[in-house]
Parts: sequence; C-alpha cells; structure tokens
Amino acid sequence: MAATLLQGEKVASEIKEGLKKDIEDLKAKGVPPHLVAVQVGENAAARVYIRQQQKACEEMDIEYEVKGLPESTTQGELLSFVEQLNRDDAVTGIILMMPIPEGIDARRVQIKISPDKDVEGMHPANMGRLVYGEMGLAPCTARAAVELLKSSGVELKGKEVVIVGHSEIVGKPLTLMLLSSQMESPTPTVCHIATNDLAFHTRRADIVFVAVGRPGLIQADMVKDGVIVIDIGINRVPVTDENGNPVLNEKGKPKKRVVGDVDFEGIKEKASFITPVPGGVGPMTTAMLLYNTVEAAKRVAARK
Ligand code: NAD
Repeated sequence: MAATLLQGEKVASEIKEGLKKDIEDLKAKGVPPHLVAVQVGENAAARVYIRQQQKACEEMDIEYEVKGLPESTTQGELLSFVEQLNRDDAVTGIILMMPIPEGIDARRVQIKISPDKDVEGMHPANMGRLVYGEMGLAPCTARAAVELLKSSGVELKGKEVVIVGHSEIVGKPLTLMLLSSQMESPTPTVCHIATNDLAFHTRRADIVFVAVGRPGLIQADMVKDGVIVIDIGINRVPVTDENGNPVLNEKGKPKKRVVGDVDFEGIKEKASFITPVPGGVGPMTTAMLLYNTVEAAKRVAARK
C-alpha cells in the first residue's frame, strides 16, 4: 500500500495561522517583529534564500530587512555590526546569511548574535537549552522535521528512530529534540559517514530521518515495511529522458529537478508515511523560521 504523504505546506500553514495573533499582540505592544538578514559579499544561493525569507515575512506582515556589507568586510567589522544590531531594540531577530567570505570565522559571528535574537537557533545557549528539553529558539530544519513527524499522529514513545547525518544544524539538534521527554521519548540512533553498516541500522528503524545531501542514499531494501521516512535532503539532479540522456532547458542547459536523499518512488510503496521532496520539510523550515522570529520578538518585548 502506498504511504501517506506528510505534506509540509499543510502543517506550515497551520503554524503560520497560529502566529498571526502573536504578531498582532507584539505590534500592539510596540514591538513589531523585525528580522534583519546580514549578507556579506554577493552569493547567488544566499540571494535565493533571501527572496524566500522576504516572501515568507511579507505574507505574515513581518518586517524583513537585508543589510548588505561589502566582500571586503573584516571579521572585526562584522562582529561590531552584529553588536549594533544586538543593541538596537527595533531589531528583534538576526540571521547571518551563508556563505560568508573566507577569512571570517562564521562560528564566532554566530556566537556574537544575542541568543534572544538568534532566529536560527544556532547560538550555543539555544543549543544548550535543547539538552534541558527546552525548545525555545531551536534550529529551524531540525524542528521542522520533528513537527512534520508529529503531524502523523504516531506515538513516538519507545520507537526505534534512526537519524542519518550528524550535522550541527540538523542531525545533532534533532537527536536532542527526540530525547526531550523523560518518559515518552523514542530511542534514537545516529548514523553518519563513518557508520559501518548503514542498512543494518535503517532496516530495524520504525522511523528514519535522513539529512545527508546524497540522492538515493536510502533505497527501498534498506527500510522495513511500515517505516516512517522524513527526508530532509535537498539535491539538484539532472532530468533525464527514458534513455537516460540529459533533458535540456530552453537555454540549452541541462534541466534540473530537486530530490531528497531517499528513493522516494521505491520507498513510498513500503512506508506508512513519507515526506515528499520538494514539499515536505522545506516549507516547514520556513514556517519554523517565522515561528522563531515571533518567539525572538517576544523575548525582546519581555526585556523592555
Ligand atoms: P552536512 O554536510 O553538514 O552533514 C552531512 C551529514 O551526512 C554528516 O553527518 C555526514 O557524516 C553524513 N554523511 C555523509 N555521507 C554519508 C553517507 N554516505 N552515509 C551516512 N552518512 C553520511 O549537511 P547538512 O547541512 O546537515 O544538510 C544535509 C542535507 O539536508 C543537505 O541535502 C541539505 O541541503 C539539506 N538541508 C535541508 C534543509 C531544509 O530546509 N529542508 C535545511 C538544511 C539542510
């Protein structure tokens, strides 16, 4: 039987609906959410994200501002700039656009952002709260993946969960989120590049999260019947015709499409729930960024 799709747009729109009243309340208190994206130098990928964020904020009537700094900006200048934004009460959230120029230590800048304005949830103070089981401002993609799983309504207590990928922004915080309940947590196992036998782990899992960035990494013979699969990967791959030849676009360049890390077609026949890519974790990540933006504004309001 084909799996039920966990559609990110649907859950994301419920989350966004729930934020509207909070945004109104913050405006009434004189603390409208105001997200500032800091971009150093020029980068096409960053521009795509900026457009997405801008659109999402506009839709929710949240002020979104891009502060562009020249490629020549030094680490010291960037740190002072972030400090100014930290002190500015009119700025309620800060997001550092990646990549930043070589020679600047991204982690040092990330740590400089006030934990209360850290809408990406990457500050050590916010990461540390996850250890205490507090979600507050948590990394958006990891939380998006957990919320999408929860939307299936499946009880997590005692389930075997395998997380493939142990990055700081996804795999590690995701693991802590799954362990947040004292008595009702599932049992997570984290796999990564150095895991000896990945299929051994994924085959015994009730729930598999994949955040690697390798199309087709998880095949249908690597999961059991009834598995729940949350595919976080985003990969742009060439579109091919029935003979396996690349299909060209109107400009004569190879046409691309977005896929996740799992063999969606094969696995959807075995799984009970699966997230599509695109349309699964992606839209939820944007919703979680908006959630964090509102949460950060509440913290700034509480400080006033
Ligand atoms: P990363 O490169 O920081 O980490 C990759 C992880 O995969 C590492 O833990 C590595 O050990 C593991 N890995 C690599 N090859 C492996 C293999 N063969 N077997 C098992 N594990 C392997 O990546 P990231 O930043 O966590 O992103 C992972 C994927 O998630 C990417 O495709 C990225 O585009 C996507 N992503 C999606 C969203 C979203 O909103 N949906 C957000 C962030 C990242």
